[in-house]
Amino acid sequence: MTPPLGSGATVPPRPEGAARAGRPEPEDATRAVTPEPDEAARAPTPRTQDATRAAASGPEQAASAAAPRTQATTPAAAREAEEAACAAAPGPVGVAKAAPPLLEVTDLAVRFGAVRAVDGVSLRLAAGPFGLGLVGESGSGKSTIGRAVVRLVAAAGGQIRFEGKDVAALRRAALKRYRRAAQIVFQDPDNSLDPRMRIGASIAEPLIVHRIVARRMAAGRARELLAEVGLDPELAGRYPHQLSGGQRQRVAIARALSVQPRLLVLDEPTSAIDVKAQARILKLIADLRAGRNLAYLLITHNLGIVTELCEQTAVLYLGRVVERGPTSELLSVPAHPYTQALRSAVPEVDMAARRSRLVLPGEPPDAASPPPGCVFHPRCPLAIDRCATEVPVLREVRPGREAACHRAEDVLAGVRTGARTSSG
Ligand code: SF4
Repeated sequence: MTPPLGSGATVPPRPEGAARAGRPEPEDATRAVTPEPDEAARAPTPRTQDATRAAASGPEQAASAAAPRTQATTPAAAREAEEAACAAAPGPVGVAKAAPPLLEVTDLAVRFGAVRAVDGVSLRLAAGPFGLGLVGESGSGKSTIGRAVVRLVAAAGGQIRFEGKDVAALRRAALKRYRRAAQIVFQDPDNSLDPRMRIGASIAEPLIVHRIVARRMAAGRARELLAEVGLDPELAGRYPHQLSGGQRQRVAIARALSVQPRLLVLDEPTSAIDVKAQARILKLIADLRAGRNLAYLLITHNLGIVTELCEQTAVLYLGRVVERGPTSELLSVPAHPYTQALRSAVPEVDMAARRSRLVLPGEPPDAASPPPGCVFHPRCPLAIDRCATEVPVLREVRPGREAACHRAEDVLAGVRTGARTSSG
């Protein structure tokens, strides 16, 4: 059952093997993700998080991560610069053309048996501080993209390049360096924390494994990291079950930060915690992006949380990008009916949603047998005959804006006719 748009509901994990057998993508089944063979051999325990624990180290990476950069350090300033660059250089795919990409995803495809979990997705991410939001319902492929980026799932096609290097081709020392440079924070912090290890030891582990600090210094550094994410360093002596969900998520972030990454994949980082803790985690991400020059993919089903944290946003539906562009523009004037619907689920973003919410009929179709034409047409309130037969290509509809919709110009003009609405 797909959670209502913007509801914050989560989907119970499903085993990857089931998806490989042809069932829908296990988007939130982080426990079920199987590390690649070379990674499995290296990881100290069989849990999924050990793949991320195996993030590689290297002194040159540490020096690079620590070096100050002369870029905008607030989301608003960075977004302003980004949007100006986008306006000057049409046709961006997640970042201005002028900026050298930290991460470049080209025509990425991921298959789970017959299911096309990701189907030809291209994205670019500038070096930090920079945020790219990936939004869409459960099953849209956004989490799978994040896992493919950190090599927790294999790509069936396309390419992922990090600082110009083909991630799939990385081996041994180069792969270790990449594992360290690109970290993932899961929706459920328990996927990152061993329940048998005290918090301090859990954070210190990657510091020791990757020789970031001497063993005798690791405990002290772990306490510093706890303080950096706003936790009492005394929590180092506790076990995960003795902390709240929000505290555990902060610990998971501290652990990811311990190896000084340049790219963070934040996979629904606030979905499993209460509203108060959500606000604290979002503020923490905002603080860290500036303080650590972080670049991140922020994966969420809730458009509301990308507004302050992401310069660019890509909207996904059934494994494809249906719209992308600067977050503020995309949210204020959507170019795709699906974005309109997502936006209307967030009253903080769409004032009209306070009175009525655009409700999409039905569920997303089976990704193993998508409908012909526009895959959104069975649910689209603006569908016309052409939509049932002709696949809309992702095209520029305004400078810096792209949408895959035959009627994008109508949507940009504010057409919402034919939609069912519910009282907000
Ligand atoms: Fe709706 Fe047609 Fe646009 Fe698809 S192409 S989103 S069905 S109007």
